[in-house]
Amino acid sequence: MKKNALKIIFAAVIVWIAQVAILYAQEMTIENYEPKSTLVVPGNEIKRAKFPFIDIHNHRRRTPKPEDLEKMIGEMDAMNMRVLVNLSGRSGEALKQSVRSFKGAYPDRFVIFANVNFRGVGEPGWGEKAAAQLEADVRNGAQGLKIYKNLGLTAKDTSGERIPTDDPRLDPVWKKCGELGIPVLIHTGEPRSFFDPHDKYNERWLELKMFPRRARPAERFPSWEKVMSEQHNLFKKHPNTKFIQAHFGWMANDLASLGKILDENPNVYTEVAAIVAELGRQPRFAREWFIKYQDRVLFGKDTYRPSEYFTYFRIFESSDEYFPYFRKRHAFWRMYGLNLPDEVLKKFYYKNALKLLPGVDKSGFPD
Ligand SMILES: [Zn+2]
Repeated sequence: MKKNALKIIFAAVIVWIAQVAILYAQEMTIENYEPKSTLVVPGNEIKRAKFPFIDIHNHRRRTPKPEDLEKMIGEMDAMNMRVLVNLSGRSGEALKQSVRSFKGAYPDRFVIFANVNFRGVGEPGWGEKAAAQLEADVRNGAQGLKIYKNLGLTAKDTSGERIPTDDPRLDPVWKKCGELGIPVLIHTGEPRSFFDPHDKYNERWLELKMFPRRARPAERFPSWEKVMSEQHNLFKKHPNTKFIQAHFGWMANDLASLGKILDENPNVYTEVAAIVAELGRQPRFAREWFIKYQDRVLFGKDTYRPSEYFTYFRIFESSDEYFPYFRKRHAFWRMYGLNLPDEVLKKFYYKNALKLLPGVDKSGFPD
């Protein structure tokens, strides 16, 4: 009798331990959730772009070793990247070094953009000095100017005030770009969700949870509307300067509004780096939009990882359904291809960039 009772207690304990173990295994956070799609549809990864392309938005900060550069050229050839635009050329001696190391070995495969340092804004003559430095950088091989997002967000003048993107003290720089015939690729602001409250309605809640420093709370930052409207005002102030608005001006989730900016400013172009997940969730509207604005859009990627380019090709070239983006935190949804017509694809991949970039060898591109 006593032996049987012990047996029952022992069995109950075993069952309880098993239940706890099962519960523990099911304990999962939203960050770990990674459902595998059960949908079976036709479609394939695209490892090589249909036409040669120019990546207008990339960064290569370090001086490459010759063998690394050779490896990179091999990768670029394999995916049909004809030209990589390195936006991190800096200025002065560093720019010369950048031009030497990339264009020295492969003159027609790289384009280097110069950068402007906003330290010293507020000192008399800053604008003229910066413009003169830029002119020297262009003489030394720079083919454009890249502006980082610190302008308008964190860059301060000599009295400690935020420098608005349309600050008149910077005008000589933009004017000079127009005179020199070089484009300005300008990154302003961040996705709107970073400025919104980090609550359960925020579409990038997961990203902000994983990377809290990306948040731009109202206590410490100007509003998204203010930051972006300063950029739009800059475009209007300098109609003779060509601007390439990075990341679709953070309006890829509102293409009609972006179209309005392009309609109002014929000197403005835009590029798709880091926003393709937005396009892949609205393939029909985005396709119509690309056809309408086919002369104003450029291919850009921002980070150099060959496997990620495959997803870009698939979005623009295919009509595949429900395929993943490579960063869950950007997009918990899946995407659909835009299946762009060849003529639009050619403009997007290289023709528009060739029109904007001075001195690129056109022989490697089809008509
Ligand atoms: Zn960038």
